[in-house]
Amino acid sequence: MSEENLYTFENEEYRKTYWHTCSHVMAQAVKRLWPETKLAIGPAIDNGFYYDLDSEKAFTPEDLEKIEAEMRKICKEKLKLERFELPRAEALKLMEEQSEPYKVELINDLPEDAHISFYKQGEFTDLCAGPHLDSTGRIKGNAIKLTQCCGAYWRGDSNRKMLQRIYGVAFPKKDELDEYLAKQAEALKRDHNKLGRELEYFTTVDVIGQGLPVLLPKGARVIQQLQRWVEDEEQKRGYLLTKTPLMAKRELYKISGHWDHYLDGMFVLGDPYDETKECFALRPMTCPFQYQVYLNRARSYRDLPMRLGETSTLFRNEDSGEMHGLIRVRQFTISEGHLVLRPEQLEEEFKGCLDLAKYCLGTVGLLDKCTFRFSQWDPANPNNKYEGTPEQWEEAQRVMGQILDDLDVNYTVGIDEAAFYGPKLDIQYKNVYGKEDTLVTIQIDMLLAKQFGMEYTDTDGQKKTPYIIHRTSLGCYERTLAYLIEEYAGALPTWMAPEQARIMTITERTNDYAWEVKKQLEALGIRVEVDDRNEKIGKKIREAQLEKVPFMLVVGDKEAENGQVAVRTRKGVDEGVMSVADFGKRIREEIDTKGRAV
Ligand SMILES: [Zn+2]
Ligand SMILES: [Zn+2]
Repeated sequence: MSEENLYTFENEEYRKTYWHTCSHVMAQAVKRLWPETKLAIGPAIDNGFYYDLDSEKAFTPEDLEKIEAEMRKICKEKLKLERFELPRAEALKLMEEQSEPYKVELINDLPEDAHISFYKQGEFTDLCAGPHLDSTGRIKGNAIKLTQCCGAYWRGDSNRKMLQRIYGVAFPKKDELDEYLAKQAEALKRDHNKLGRELEYFTTVDVIGQGLPVLLPKGARVIQQLQRWVEDEEQKRGYLLTKTPLMAKRELYKISGHWDHYLDGMFVLGDPYDETKECFALRPMTCPFQYQVYLNRARSYRDLPMRLGETSTLFRNEDSGEMHGLIRVRQFTISEGHLVLRPEQLEEEFKGCLDLAKYCLGTVGLLDKCTFRFSQWDPANPNNKYEGTPEQWEEAQRVMGQILDDLDVNYTVGIDEAAFYGPKLDIQYKNVYGKEDTLVTIQIDMLLAKQFGMEYTDTDGQKKTPYIIHRTSLGCYERTLAYLIEEYAGALPTWMAPEQARIMTITERTNDYAWEVKKQLEALGIRVEVDDRNEKIGKKIREAQLEKVPFMLVVGDKEAENGQVAVRTRKGVDEGVMSVADFGKRIREEIDTKGRAV
C-alpha cells in the first residue's frame, strides 16, 4: 500500500479515525448548544459514529440539524486536536470540574497503571484514548449527517440510566454522503424489519418480549412451505427424521458441555446452582437430544453414516440490545441435523452437507451473495470457552482445512468463531445494511461422541468412537425469511409466496364465477384469494401489487362467459386472457420449477 492510501476512506483505520473525530466534534457542538449535557462515550462504528449523551432535553430532528450546523462551524474553525496525559487524581479532578460523572466512572474503571489521555480542541476537552485527525479542519463540514437519535442504556446495562444516542455519518466529499444516503433510503425500502411488518409477515409484541417475533399467517405460510420442502429433500438424501424434546434436565447439558461453556446463552428453568432440586433448561441446540436416538441401541459400522434431521425449535438467551427483527431472535426454528460417521466417511459426508446447503440456498436464490468462513478456535481459550485439548483442535482444524481445500471452497478464516466442540464452515450472508450473520453452518466434532459414550462396532469387531458433523441445510427459518424479504423486496418467488394468485372481479355479476375459479385452482394446490369488494378494478390491482401477489386474475362478464381469466403479474406484465385450465398449467409450472421470473 502506498503511503498516500493510508489517508483515504478505503482504509478502514483512517475511516474510523475520521468518524471518531466527528464524534468529538458532535459532542463539542452539543456542549456549545446545551452546556449542561453530560457526555458518556462516542466511538466510531462500522457505518459512522455515535455519542451517548445524558440530557434533560429530548433531542428532536430539528435539534440534530442545529447540531450539524454547529459542527460545520467547528470544522471551519480548524481547531487542532491536542493530546495530553494526566495522573489519575488530576484526571478525576478535571472531569469532576467539568461535571462529567460518566467520564469519572470511566476513569475509576481504568487499571491502576493506565495512561489517562485527553484530547483538547478549542474550548472542548474529552477523555479519550484516540487516535484522531490532527485538526477539525480535516473534516468536510457539509458532508456530515446526523441520522437518528434513540435510547441507549449506559454501558448497555438495563439497570442503569437510559441515555440518548445520536448517530451520524460523514464522508470526505458531499456527493459521497449523498450517494450513501440514497443507498440507505433504498435499503430501508427492502429492510425486512419494516417491509416484513408492513406486509404482515410478522410482528413483535412488548408483553411477549424482545427477540420473540410472532409470525403472522403470511409469514407462517412461507416458513411452512420452506420446512416441508427441506424435510422432503433431506428424506431424499437419506436423513432419518427425529422429534425430540424442547428441554432437558441440567444433567444432559453437563455431559454435552453446554453447562460449562454455554450456560449464559441458555434459558434455565429454576436455580442452576441448587443441586438439591431438579433444574431444566430450554435447548439451545439439538445435538445432545439427537445423540439419544443413536444411543437407543448398540450400533455397528453398518448403521453409519447415520444422518439425523429435525425441524428444531431452539432458544438462546442473547442480549436484548442485539435483537433485530427476524434476524437476531431468542427463539428460532432450524433444519438441524447431526451425522454420526466413521472417520473415513468424514470427507464424503461433509461434501454431502455442503452440497445440500448449496442446493437449498441456490434454490431460494440466496447462494450468489453468500460467502464462506472457516471458523476456528482461539488457542488462548478465553474464559474456558472451548472443550478439548490443543492437540484435538489442531487435528480437527487440519482435517477440515484439508476437506475445504479438496472441495475448492473459497473461504476466509474467523479466529475465535468456532463452536465450543469444534471448527465450523459458516456460510455468511449480509442484510440490506451490510451487516453479516451466519445463515448455514457445517461443523466437525471429534469430541462429543466420546462424552456421550457413543460407539460402534467396526468391521474388525472393535468398539470405536464415531465422528459427528453438526449441520443446517437452510439455516434458521426466521432469518432466512428476513433475507428473502430483503433480497426480493417482499416479492417472494411464487412457490413460497403466501398468496400465489388473487382473483379480482370487475362487476358484482362475476362474483360467483370468481369463487368457482378459486375452487378450481385450489384443486391444483394453488393458494388463491378472491377480491370481490365493490371497488374499482384499478384499486384492486394496485393493492395486490403492493402486497406482492405474483398473479392477478381479472374477471369480467366476458371472462365469466368463456371460462377464462385475464392474467397480469405483479411486475405489470399482461399475459393475456386464457382458460382457467391453461392458467392452472402456467402457474403450476412456475411453482414446480421453483421459478423466480414472475
Ligand atoms: Zn476520541
Ligand atoms: Zn449440534
